[in-house]
Amino acid sequence: MNSVAFVYHKDYLLHTPPFDHPESPDRLVAILDHLAATGLMDKLVAITPGYAEEADILRVHDPSYLQKLEMACRRGDLTLDAEDTYLNRNSYTIALLSAGGAIAGAEAVASGKVRRAFCAIRPPGHHADRKTGMGFCLLNNVAVAARYLQARHGVSRIFIVDWDVHHGNGTQSIFLEDPSVYFFSIHEHPSFLYPGTGRRWETGKGAGEGTTLNAPMAPGSGDAEYRLAFEQMLRPAIEAFRPEILLVSAGFDAHQDDPLADIQLTVEGFRFMSRFVVEMADRHCGGRLVSLLEGGYENRSLTASVEAHLQEFLGE
Ligand SMILES: [Zn+2]
Repeated sequence: MNSVAFVYHKDYLLHTPPFDHPESPDRLVAILDHLAATGLMDKLVAITPGYAEEADILRVHDPSYLQKLEMACRRGDLTLDAEDTYLNRNSYTIALLSAGGAIAGAEAVASGKVRRAFCAIRPPGHHADRKTGMGFCLLNNVAVAARYLQARHGVSRIFIVDWDVHHGNGTQSIFLEDPSVYFFSIHEHPSFLYPGTGRRWETGKGAGEGTTLNAPMAPGSGDAEYRLAFEQMLRPAIEAFRPEILLVSAGFDAHQDDPLADIQLTVEGFRFMSRFVVEMADRHCGGRLVSLLEGGYENRSLTASVEAHLQEFLGE
């Protein structure tokens, strides 16, 4: 069984920027159009998610933060915490729907309905920590999915691979002291690139020491450097941790045409990484693999990279 879920809700388009901004609904429209045009969409199991429940979110975020986010949207605030993180009046409910998408993908895979899932969700999540929205992220979708899997499916060891070009600082901070969730991030660094964290010596804390791993990549790095880091760092980390499920924070902004960074991956680089996580999940996790959209801001490279990602998920 190689069935692959595609999780999407049309209301993801209702989270719209009040000013010119790279994280726009067009990203998802482009992905949907492309998957329809290439015929890939017909091969996927469409899942329409519901809203995450408050209890799902509170496994990850502070109640005070959730309240602040809801009030800010109700008031009609245009930004939250950091100036780059915009809001409109729909953003709170659409953030719940985005986290609900992550849960729906996790549920479909954990229950055995499908082997793998890709969640075409927004707003993205990996910069949001327990108490702060930042970097276009409101709720940490991948963290909500991980905690859901632990609470509802009794999963004890979860491995998160974050290949968005920006460091997943929010996810790292949420699981920093937690040995049950391994966090691996490969991202551009050093440079002035956002958010500035994710150095090699950030390896976890307390009981979670040794279950955070960062692969900072110099500006200009490309497919060859990423391949080496996957083989030399990621492979042994997964083999030693023996996860029961693999989650991917799949940003596609490390592509050479993306305007937000200086990493030079091609579509073939994303194909390699996608095949790598499929193989790792097949070997160690009974195939269980859930991928969540994070960044990716140049629509042609975004859609071509998502296409390669899903071809590998389908085993084509
Ligand atoms: Zn990013």
